Amino acid sequence: MHRKISDRLFERACRVIPGGVNSPVRSGRSVGVRPFFVKEAKGCRIRDEDGNVYIDYVCSWGPLIAGHAPVQVVEAVMKAAAGGTSYGIPSRLEVELAEQVAALVPSMEMIRMVNSGTEAVMSAVRLARGFTGRNKVIKFNGCYHGHSDCLLVASGSGLATFGIPGSPGVPEELVQHTMSLRYNDLDVVEEAMEHMGGDVAAIVLEPVAGNMGVVPPRQGYLEGLRRICDRYGALLIFDEVITGFRVALGGAQERYGVKPDLTCLGKIIGGGLPVGAYGGRRDVMQRVAPEGDIYQAGTLSGNPIAMAAGLAMLDIVRRDGVYEELEEKASHLAAGLGRAAEEAGVPMTLNRVGSMGCGFFSRHPVTDFETAAQSDTRAYAVFFREMMERGVYLAPSQFEAFFVSLAHEKEDLDATVEAAGEAFRATAAV
Ligand code: PMP
Repeated sequence: MHRKISDRLFERACRVIPGGVNSPVRSGRSVGVRPFFVKEAKGCRIRDEDGNVYIDYVCSWGPLIAGHAPVQVVEAVMKAAAGGTSYGIPSRLEVELAEQVAALVPSMEMIRMVNSGTEAVMSAVRLARGFTGRNKVIKFNGCYHGHSDCLLVASGSGLATFGIPGSPGVPEELVQHTMSLRYNDLDVVEEAMEHMGGDVAAIVLEPVAGNMGVVPPRQGYLEGLRRICDRYGALLIFDEVITGFRVALGGAQERYGVKPDLTCLGKIIGGGLPVGAYGGRRDVMQRVAPEGDIYQAGTLSGNPIAMAAGLAMLDIVRRDGVYEELEEKASHLAAGLGRAAEEAGVPMTLNRVGSMGCGFFSRHPVTDFETAAQSDTRAYAVFFREMMERGVYLAPSQFEAFFVSLAHEKEDLDATVEAAGEAFRATAAV
């Protein structure tokens, strides 16, 4: 595969954009490649500027549950755009989307739209602090909640990928109230809460971690966090930016039957447009300005094009059989990948929840960031490159998820498994 045009674009990009990219992980640095530049995408396939075609398992890092450019979403976007691209004045679509989200995720009694996952979690944490009158926040190692200052501690995603513990530019004073603990371990939470429970505003987590690779919650973990929050009067915040409308129609909270006080959404709810949302208990959300005194705002929040895309996406995922189809496809893929790795003698631990999954290059169970970090990232890099050369695009980092969409057909999954067989053999030979 040659990528001459992409390479030239990357050189130009590097002169005007830091690292040539607008978000770090997509640079491909950790897996030793330069990024390709997308020309167009449809269904589960991406075509790059040089005409190479890839089966895509990044799916824009999760939002594209129906694949690229589903007709319903594209039509809704075009129709909305023709009626104006932004008003800064309320419109009907905002009400409809909020109503639909509230109906599908019952813990979200009230909802505020924002423009990204980062904004959603940042706003939910401010609200939790304002509501409880406390400052401390507990998060978990390897979970990523966007790049807002106070959550950039022992973070997953790009920080895990590049081995960065935090970031210069975040003053110590801003993170002194954030405590990051081991994921999936209730004892460390109990212990921390015994010391400082009365000062903790919120426990925030990805109910299924998706930014250290995929790590499901242990049985009883989410319930345990719920109990602890209730005991100490802290709010439980589920960051469902990835898991919302992904692991079940009602998100991880429906799948595991645990109700958070606040939920953060993003990705799917915007149908691929820049959208996030936070919401939850009415008494808490009523504290948000202008109904309450905790400030949060946004010029483009509730943008009509984004709302239209979100509504079209929810129409798709509400159809009968969607989650069964996703489950079946993802389990078919995971089984094939597992078999292919075994046949090639490559140790792999496959974690999967519904249509999000991750193959860790490790022979040990992966239950938290500490065990995820033991994966052989060099082997992953080789595997990634071999897959890319065979027309399969995976996340360019071991510490990210693969996403299966409705647009991945059985032939695509089988072609992926076949490519993986060769790629695993090449990886084993290195
Ligand atoms: N929370 C989670 C769980 C995420 O996966 C992400 C992004 N990958 C974010 C928050 C931040 O969202 P955004 O990139 O839209 O700011």
